[in-house]
Amino acid sequence: MRELLLIPGPTPVNEEVLKEISKQPISHVSKDFAVYIEKSIEYLREIFGTKNSSVLIIPGSGTIAMEIAIKNLLSKNEKALVLSHGFFGDRFLEILEEDGFNYDFIQSKWGEVIDLDLIREKLKKEHFALITITHVDTSTGILAPVEDYMKVIKEISPDSLVILDGVCATGGVEEKMDDWGIDVILTGSQKALSVPPGLAILSVSEKALEKRKSLGKIGFYYGDILRWKVTMDDPTKYFATHNTNYTFGLKKSLEIILSEGLQERYKRHFENAKFIRDKMKEIGFEVFGNKKYLAPTLSLFIYPEGVDDENFRKELSYKGITVAGGIKDLKGKVFRMGHMGEVKKEELLYAFEKIKEVIKR
Ligand code: PMP
Repeated sequence: MRELLLIPGPTPVNEEVLKEISKQPISHVSKDFAVYIEKSIEYLREIFGTKNSSVLIIPGSGTIAMEIAIKNLLSKNEKALVLSHGFFGDRFLEILEEDGFNYDFIQSKWGEVIDLDLIREKLKKEHFALITITHVDTSTGILAPVEDYMKVIKEISPDSLVILDGVCATGGVEEKMDDWGIDVILTGSQKALSVPPGLAILSVSEKALEKRKSLGKIGFYYGDILRWKVTMDDPTKYFATHNTNYTFGLKKSLEIILSEGLQERYKRHFENAKFIRDKMKEIGFEVFGNKKYLAPTLSLFIYPEGVDDENFRKELSYKGITVAGGIKDLKGKVFRMGHMGEVKKEELLYAFEKIKEVIKR
């Protein structure tokens, strides 16, 4: 039976990447290994749309990248503003709360984005040292209009640092760190970068590094970007052991991504998203969320009357197709399908045929 993992991460991994990962480890401080880090950094800069930022590749998942970004850029007597479109935007609130920071937030309705006037008003009333944006919130399938948000932020509060969570976006949607004026883009290896879960990746601007330096001790030894920067600038200098094999895989996957061509890749994501949404509509599944802001990396399909979520996903899994359930209020009402990274149109068509069979039953 053909198995297809169509959840919004982890996503299917190319055989060539798996082959790289399965090689024998090499010394994490050798010149040979340094090449894997250096090349990966060079490729990632291209994907993040940045020339001079410091790219850090750290063993861990997306969540630690979020916490690293927060704790390196904010002091206890400053305040952060979270722009949230759902569950993963809200995760920044939980981190800020847990780590004892001051914060405020604007939450959109799930499936919508935030009105620019609300951001404007908030920024005019109060100064925020740090602002977080989630590029694609995986709980709602919504792509934030980052460029529009950034224009407002730059106009009213140009010295605020901005963190962009690209976990469900980087590699599947264009990101222009330098042009947009973002200070940190963070992501994980397991989504549109098509590597298994295990690497947290951050791209950090000069301005953000200066801020980190001004903070002195941050109480986060493993997550200190200054410590990681030393070993990224010269991987033969040890800080903590690199994830050697996943870095082999990362380098290979980034080569595959860049050889496809970034614009080609983004176009493919967009077309595949449209393709599966049109198909699903034929059998009565509408897409959740404001049509103007749908992310090309995943879709939330609303169940038609009479389809039971658990049964549907179980039956589909018997046919080899794995999709994810809805989160929070959307639980039981939608299922989430990832169509990012390596996922091909003919695989989406295959999954669609299986979905049709399950619905018929
Ligand atoms: N942000 C977003 C947008 C995500 O989708 C996720 C994971 N689904 C995370 C952050 C957290 O990443 P991780 O599960 O790798 O810790």
